[in-house]
Amino acid sequence: MKTLECSTIDIAPTISRLLKVPMVPPSGKPIPEVENYAKERGCKKAVIIVIDSLGYYFYWHLSPVMKNLHELTEKGLLFKCWSPATITSPAIASIFTGYLPEEHNIYSTDDIYTETAKDSENPRLKSIMEWAYRAGMKSSAVIETKGAESFRGRIRDIYGVPNSEDILDYDCRITEYALQALKEKTDILAVHLRALDRYSHRAETWTEIKKAAKAIDKNLEEIFQSAEKGTIFFICGDHTVHGGKKWLKNATYEEIKSHENNYVALIVGCC
Ligand SMILES: [Zn+2]
Repeated sequence: MKTLECSTIDIAPTISRLLKVPMVPPSGKPIPEVENYAKERGCKKAVIIVIDSLGYYFYWHLSPVMKNLHELTEKGLLFKCWSPATITSPAIASIFTGYLPEEHNIYSTDDIYTETAKDSENPRLKSIMEWAYRAGMKSSAVIETKGAESFRGRIRDIYGVPNSEDILDYDCRITEYALQALKEKTDILAVHLRALDRYSHRAETWTEIKKAAKAIDKNLEEIFQSAEKGTIFFICGDHTVHGGKKWLKNATYEEIKSHENNYVALIVGCC
């Protein structure tokens, strides 16, 4: 099977094309394979789920314990997807805006305020959720409280969860809000799940990291079950795993290359 490739900056313009959200065309480009896939299925709503640290290589190791994600891959598309940033804030800003970090200049949550203060109409700072909101659609973001605050007034529904030492509980709370947003019939929903990243920093064994992967898969199952028919999912990593050495001990040359080049997994599928 041919490996499909794209970049995380292609996600926002792809959603813009599929859901007919007017947007100043960003640096990313709509992904043709996703356009074809969606055309046959008539997708009307979109959900972006960022699984922190879900590198492409990591996905292959964890998919056996992520049954629901694996099932979505089977009926959808899997991309080897290049991310332009190796840390969370700029990587997620690229997913949401369709621009490279050197274009949006968001390297921390505070940068969103600084850059917006310079030019509140700068299209490079606008997320696909914000473009949708301006077009009269419903859009929601479910992320950590501080990040969520930066969206205040710019999109319809913002759900913030305070950072927590118990990251499994944190992700469960994120998921509860995601279910609430879906119940309120949002058109575009963005969600950030963090357990995998936290475990990758603190855990030492694959057994421990698989525990986080399983928990995330359970969250995904709940979200999938609550989504309306005709919802297209974009599930991706923001960067490859940190503390690579620990997780690359028995990796092949190709896996190491994939990690170093910051290829994450992007799974696109309709429920
Ligand atoms: Zn991250």
